[in-house]
Amino acid sequence: MQRHDAEVLLVGNELLRGERRDAHLAFVAQAMQRTGVRIAECHCVGDDIHAIAEKLRERMARTRVLVVTGGLGPTDDDVTREGVAEAVQQPLEFRDEQWSHIATFMASRGRTASEANRRQAHFPRGSEVLANPLGTAPGFALAYEGAHVFVLPGPPPELQPMLETLVVPRVSQLFARPPLRVETFRTIGIAESQLFEILGETTFALRAYSVSWLPSIAGVDVVLTQKADADAGALQAEADHVHTRMQEALGSKYYERGVRPLALVASDTLRHRTQSVAVAESLTGGSIARLFTEHAGSSEVFLASAVTYSNESKISLLGVRAETIEQFGAVSEETCTEMAHGIRRRVNATYGVATTGIAGPGGGSPQKPVGLVFLGVAWEGGSQIKRVMYAGDRAVIRDRAAHGALWLLHDRLART
Ligand code: ATP
Ligand code: MG
Repeated sequence: MQRHDAEVLLVGNELLRGERRDAHLAFVAQAMQRTGVRIAECHCVGDDIHAIAEKLRERMARTRVLVVTGGLGPTDDDVTREGVAEAVQQPLEFRDEQWSHIATFMASRGRTASEANRRQAHFPRGSEVLANPLGTAPGFALAYEGAHVFVLPGPPPELQPMLETLVVPRVSQLFARPPLRVETFRTIGIAESQLFEILGETTFALRAYSVSWLPSIAGVDVVLTQKADADAGALQAEADHVHTRMQEALGSKYYERGVRPLALVASDTLRHRTQSVAVAESLTGGSIARLFTEHAGSSEVFLASAVTYSNESKISLLGVRAETIEQFGAVSEETCTEMAHGIRRRVNATYGVATTGIAGPGGGSPQKPVGLVFLGVAWEGGSQIKRVMYAGDRAVIRDRAAHGALWLLHDRLART
């Protein structure tokens, strides 16, 4: 039986109970991919010595690399080291130098290492310690009947640097492969099925890549991943062909070849033009500001966001006229227009973006049902307002509105 390249084994009752969402698989898979190695399977077990040992034995027989995460803590609910020791039939050994590392680490934080921490200085005989500069739990590596096992602590801020600096170089050496080529094409404002209708023929003909269609609230990503036997020339030509086809067929709905999110794409465009944007948010409650400010350097182009939830604040902060709200309502094209112009003038931005709508679950009416949203972008001398109906619960409607507003801005930038 041929072995997989690599697998992941997640350990933790909290994962099985749904109290924590796994963050490791995505990180490990992406890091491994850069070394040309694919994660073939991922398994999850609870904090139980025998369950861990049994699953490890099963997976070690099936894969060349196994990354095991979690359960290295000081408390006795963390039993990964015992499970691994049982699986490889080696005793746990106390290592003095690791114990003094742990003691020094604790002392540097003004704490003293406890008896419980002593457990973390135990390792299966024959294993190699993987230092953890950011926590008390070191990891370890061992080889067993053709499998290379890397055991890492659970907290993502500790696991991630350890994986990058200690595991990836070893795996890279083991396989000695070039990185897998991955091409991401990002779209917004088009349904997955529609996108497939437009592009399916093109992607079906690809021989160098396998294709995934990944929808989310931010739009649909088309991701091409290099096939194992791909020809180098075809890799470039086929990706370029998809790019050209998407440009022709989708216009501004295709916004990125790469992995920049829409807010960053819009920010970069604004920066190149030395222009700026400010936002007046009602139902999105600051989400658009967050999408912009997630990226370092956004202060050059993102000037302000006013979360104007009440009618009074729309009037006093943005200069929306009371009569406008009275006559047309807060959720209306007219109010949205005045909000977008208001914030633009208020902070002297090139563009003003605005959202107003009914996120629900209450507050809808036959004329203005839940999901009705107005999105606006205004500039000196003009504005564009879009009336949309979003389906979904409150969180989804708010999220869609935030991304929809970004798209409206991006669309405006693409036209000028
Ligand atoms: P520590 O010494 O901090 O206890 P550990 O190796 O024992 O490290 P765990 O006790 O299993 O790790 O988990 C520590 C933290 O890491 C917990 O908050 C846990 O929920 C989190 N964690 C564990 N596995 C994952 C995972 N797959 N994705 C995200 N977080 C995780
Ligand atoms: Mg745990």
